[in-house]
Amino acid sequence: MNFIFPPHCPFCHKYVENRGDWCKVCLELACQPHRLPITAPMQSVIDSAWALSVYRGGTRDLIRGLKYHNKRSNLPYITRLLQAAEQSAGVKKLLSESCCAVAVPLHETRQRKRGFNQAELIFGDWLCDHSVPMEKMLRRVRQTKPLYPLTARERADNLKDAFQIEPGSVIRGKSILLVDDILTTGATLYTCAKVLKQAGAEKIYALVLASDQL
Ligand SMILES: [Zn+2]
Repeated sequence: MNFIFPPHCPFCHKYVENRGDWCKVCLELACQPHRLPITAPMQSVIDSAWALSVYRGGTRDLIRGLKYHNKRSNLPYITRLLQAAEQSAGVKKLLSESCCAVAVPLHETRQRKRGFNQAELIFGDWLCDHSVPMEKMLRRVRQTKPLYPLTARERADNLKDAFQIEPGSVIRGKSILLVDDILTTGATLYTCAKVLKQAGAEKIYALVLASDQL
């Protein structure tokens, strides 16, 4: 296989050693773990938030391909990016302090249409390797509108009551890592974190593959 289709960097197409590898230059450009600023009222429910990359260039192509074109072959490249980002002391700390992870849920209608939850696909195996198992603690009970054209106030109204605790979940006293593919305004993460904190979670950390700003 490697002889007929030699593995190459997903962006500049330079040959690399193993399938899923990026070339050094593109990986260094994409891998930028950074702490996200948490402002009020998010501070009251999110203890620390990190992004591993920025939503542009290679990272954006990989996420879009996976999400909108069901391109599962992008997953090895995304995993390689996560493995590079885990070298960061801040990311290590985040993982070591979390006892389990929860993906921001999609409404069941959307999940059925897409066939998967992208945050689960992106983070599931990698978090498992770090002994942070994914758990289903949240469900999305209302289909929400796309958030980007809305004002802050409209976003909050739109998300109000959109999430509920999955019946039977044990949340009290746990340190939970909320994961999502992209962070834009943080309104969704905030709403999920609030529901989990109200159910007794000790700490809520947040981790996204890409933020839309650095
Ligand atoms: Zn490259």
